[in-house]
Amino acid sequence: MTKPSQRYVTSTGRVIYSFPVRSFPTLVNNIYVIDSGEELILVDCGSGMPQANDDLAAGFVAVGETFGRAMSLADITTILITHGHIDHFGGLNFVRRFTGAPIGVHILDRRVLSNHEERVVFAYRRLGDFLESAGVAAEQRESLMSVYLFGKTYYQSTPVQFLLEEGLPAVGDIGVYHVPGHCPGQVCLQVDDILLTADQVLSRITPHQAPESITHHMGLGHYLDSLDKIAALPGCRLGLGGHEDPMDDIPARIEAIRQAHDNRLGKVMDICRAPKSITEISRDLFGRVDSYHVLLALEEAGAHVEYLHQRGELVAANLEEIERTNHPVVRYRRA
Ligand SMILES: [Zn+2]
Ligand SMILES: [Zn+2]
Repeated sequence: MTKPSQRYVTSTGRVIYSFPVRSFPTLVNNIYVIDSGEELILVDCGSGMPQANDDLAAGFVAVGETFGRAMSLADITTILITHGHIDHFGGLNFVRRFTGAPIGVHILDRRVLSNHEERVVFAYRRLGDFLESAGVAAEQRESLMSVYLFGKTYYQSTPVQFLLEEGLPAVGDIGVYHVPGHCPGQVCLQVDDILLTADQVLSRITPHQAPESITHHMGLGHYLDSLDKIAALPGCRLGLGGHEDPMDDIPARIEAIRQAHDNRLGKVMDICRAPKSITEISRDLFGRVDSYHVLLALEEAGAHVEYLHQRGELVAANLEEIERTNHPVVRYRRA
């Protein structure tokens, strides 16, 4: 059971409609349509999986039926993609069947949309390197990497028509804030007094982190800097995330997320009283988890270890081995 469509009105009277799409069996995304009368702006479009596409089409019908504002994908005048994660842009091939509306994304995520096949290969290779140095055994590495590829290979590259740039208002005077960390080119979009927070700030979960050794402009340091940027924005009455529920106190939510990362960093420092690989640290932090969650846990642990290592709080405990071995497993200990 997914939530019904919602309607929000900004301080200048612009309307934002929202409805859920089921991107993957356990992941629901929020889709937003900004209606300024002249422009109809679609923000994100789901994963492109059959269920997500069905939900996307049904969401437009539901908005018409619930709020008396008839609209369809063919009426969209602009498409904004908040970041280059497949659950946010994977539906572009489907959307393109109905509209030639220009697609905008931040420059650091453009190639994920427009040169996807290359991007997947590079990310796949770097993920393999990360898992190897994290101490994941060869067999499990292969299965984790095939899990990574699942859900990424059906998307076909689509050209991007314009870029979302920090400080330059996007179509319809929408404020653009670049918030790297969770994804290189993630943006939050300010529509008057409402902030579309994408996956930077969510109402319940702490947004996923991965090390920037896999992808530049990701990593916990960038993410925390981006949290500071959003916390300082004036005049945001309501936050609407890429998943989960609306947030009527964005600063409080940001503070809770920051606290969660501080706690996790403290735990990693505790764990590393004795030398540990990222695989061992991940298991100590998250216990035994299944399938896709193994990969998420390793990336999350890796991001926190990388953050502490970059700042000299953790050091390599097996430097000699790292120096003389090809593809060494790195063990970390407190400095
Ligand atoms: Zn995301
Ligand atoms: Zn997401």
